[in-house]
Amino acid sequence: MIVKRLQAGVYAANCYIIHTLDGDAIVVDPAGDVDDIMAYITKKSIKVNSIILTHGHGDHIGGVMELKNKLKIPVMVHSADEDMVKSGDLNLSTSMPIGDVSFEPDRLLKDEEIIHLGNKEIKIIHTPGHTRGGICLLMDNILITGDTLFQGSIGRTDLYGGDFDILMKSIMSKLMVLPDETKIYPGHGGDSTIGYEKKSNPFIRKASKDA
Ligand SMILES: [Zn+2]
Ligand SMILES: [Zn+2]
Repeated sequence: MIVKRLQAGVYAANCYIIHTLDGDAIVVDPAGDVDDIMAYITKKSIKVNSIILTHGHGDHIGGVMELKNKLKIPVMVHSADEDMVKSGDLNLSTSMPIGDVSFEPDRLLKDEEIIHLGNKEIKIIHTPGHTRGGICLLMDNILITGDTLFQGSIGRTDLYGGDFDILMKSIMSKLMVLPDETKIYPGHGGDSTIGYEKKSNPFIRKASKDA
């Protein structure tokens, strides 16, 4: 699997283009800068079959409709964040410079669902807490974490649908059980691994101590 990161949109969120060696691809969180995303797709001659959103926040979805209309592909989000992508007020885009971004998702995802990408499988892991419908995507030893888990930190929990205890439970029970060598690609900032976060992330160290 190849993971290409592009910083996209006004808040430079991480958009990931994930593709197999055969050229089957998905785009995760097209936050904007759709021309850059299209340029990579064209350069690599890959075929994108869907857009998957890690969660419904405005800083991750600004380019969704433009990319969807260009490529004629479905947009998928966890069912618990459906209300957010449909409402610019709930996803906060109405208070961002991009203005109202709202749309109807094509497919609603659920926990442990498998998405097929060529001969590869992507597992959806529901990790509520930053939003109610936050998900991580696991394929081979690659984990896309959205705003659930960052290098050295975790997602904020003071926005609509956020809950600190639920977020920590998601991280500890669903992510920290993965092998240490699992590579983490977050929604903001740089990459990491599960093993590195276990050792150095203050939120995870505290939760392990308290457990
Ligand atoms: Zn977010
Ligand atoms: Zn974000």
